Amino acid sequence: MDGAQIRVNWRWPGQFLDSHRYSRILTEIHIPSLYGQRAGNTVREVMGLSVFQDLSGCYHVKKIDMSHGLTYFPTGGFCIYCGSTGLPLGDEHIVPLALGGQHVLTKASCALCAKITSKFERSVARELWGDARISFDASSRRKNDRSAFIRMPDADNPGEKISVPAHEYPGVFVFYKMEPSGISCGLSEEIDTSKSWKLIVIDDDQRRNEFLKKSQKKLTVQFRNVPQQFGQLLAKIGYGHLLTALDPSDFRPICLPYILGEKSNVSYIVGRGDENVSPMEGIGYSLRTMAQGTSESLLLSVIIRLYANTFAPEYLVAVGEVAGHENVVRIMEKLKRIDSESN
Ligand SMILES: [Zn+2]
Repeated sequence: MDGAQIRVNWRWPGQFLDSHRYSRILTEIHIPSLYGQRAGNTVREVMGLSVFQDLSGCYHVKKIDMSHGLTYFPTGGFCIYCGSTGLPLGDEHIVPLALGGQHVLTKASCALCAKITSKFERSVARELWGDARISFDASSRRKNDRSAFIRMPDADNPGEKISVPAHEYPGVFVFYKMEPSGISCGLSEEIDTSKSWKLIVIDDDQRRNEFLKKSQKKLTVQFRNVPQQFGQLLAKIGYGHLLTALDPSDFRPICLPYILGEKSNVSYIVGRGDENVSPMEGIGYSLRTMAQGTSESLLLSVIIRLYANTFAPEYLVAVGEVAGHENVVRIMEKLKRIDSESN
């Protein structure tokens, strides 16, 4: 069983980024300090086109048709984060609804933990990707309240803003280009590599060019730099995804203290996945489970791509560990069974 890899997969059809023409090439971006933070590093990132490679022979895809709507997974009747029983438990979208999430763990989170997770989810959905989501008419619980205009800072007149029709504004999705996670490199938990994460931007060339031609204005994007919250969100998605296949008691959840904010160095468990990714046409997000290790110990990770039908990066989140030969055999059997059921 040395080096065994099992993958349990979920992919969700793309919802609003409906083609894969979205470029990963950065425009020259002006980053205003809207939230009192200056994101600083402007990065020009050009990745070579390459074919998405299937890394192992035991790789299967469970593709769910959009018309099936939400998919629910039952949980054990206690909070998946703090273990509390006897409290009212709310449903938990594995990928937040605001980001198109369609897979739901039912009765999974107590109110206190939901408050923690919804806070970092909001940071990413509204502060990092707010304008982009509005401009591409992404799903939202509050879609009807949504403004028809983006208030774009005027690069030539500091302090002034220009109203741009939301459907014309070339919104950009800011992502973090990460290092491999600390745990995957054998670093100690104290070493924080998130300081060297870079910002990359997924945008739509065509819309950007049309905007620049029409408005004669400098294109300005505004967002808040939230690497910590982004890492927490990935950890949460990874944990939730693994729980569609395993029970919380099946593994030691090393991701939990990071999700709950008890530990802050998310770069220990969250990092980049395969760097040679290309758009997965028609796929909104893709989540895959990976088990690596020996017959005595396993590291369970989840491979995450959000906005998978763009050049958005792939992330790898270390979710949990399994120790001891008997446990390893049991968990591998369980994953294999689910893997084959997925097909
Ligand atoms: Zn809880």
